[in-house]
Amino acid sequence: MTCRELTDAPIAAFNVITLEHAEGIVAGAEQAGLPVILQLSENAIRFHEGPDAIAAAMVAVGASAGISVVLHLDHVTDVELAMRTVDLGFTSVMYDGSTLDFVGNVRTTRQVAEWGVGNGVWVEAELGEVGGKDGAHAPGVRTDPAEAARFVADTGVDSLAVAVGSSHAMTSRTAELDLELIERIHAAVPVPLVLHGSSGVPDEAIAAATRAGMWKINIGTALNVAFTGELRDWLTANQGVDPRKALKPAREALAEAVAHYLRVVDGQAA
Ligand SMILES: [Zn+2]
Repeated sequence: MTCRELTDAPIAAFNVITLEHAEGIVAGAEQAGLPVILQLSENAIRFHEGPDAIAAAMVAVGASAGISVVLHLDHVTDVELAMRTVDLGFTSVMYDGSTLDFVGNVRTTRQVAEWGVGNGVWVEAELGEVGGKDGAHAPGVRTDPAEAARFVADTGVDSLAVAVGSSHAMTSRTAELDLELIERIHAAVPVPLVLHGSSGVPDEAIAAATRAGMWKINIGTALNVAFTGELRDWLTANQGVDPRKALKPAREALAEAVAHYLRVVDGQAA
């Protein structure tokens, strides 16, 4: 399955850190009966000291899923890693050149996008840093619609991550999205739009963002809030040492969060 087959409706993408994340995300998507994107960030790859083992696990979990699964590499700053998308068994990559200046970002992103065309890989890119990553920009950063349109035309990317008010790694859901800006970018840019840092965005605002033209909704931190919260509760209440006893309810809580978010993104519940 590739992103190209899933552009008709908004879709949620969830970050995988451990095997239990991958299993829980697929279980949640099966509960909701909706397709899902499993994504692996360069940060998570660093945690695993390389992409191979966790990527192979994601491929296996995706292959046995009862719903459509797309495997995506997220926030890749290393062009060589981006170009490993195919041999890792993934079909989609976000190349993140947002810390480069406009000209440098266009140059490297175009290189990855051209490679993607030749290799059947969907390429997402970013213009205008989404708040909260690396601290290089203030959280008030916004994507300019005209600049976004030029960036897409100059690079040939398949989808574009935009800065419209969300911020990475928020554990409270207080981000305020600029819906009017989403509409303006959507009107100006001919490719699907991606919202990063959606964990900090309330359900109603996520639903409103999809109606305003947002396509892919990235959710990472919210799953960790569910997963780690359950883990902490179990460890606080129990003295056992078998990790399965703690990981099972944690994985189930994660799956429930996934099913909920998928329904919100699908417009069923807000
Ligand atoms: Zn992101």
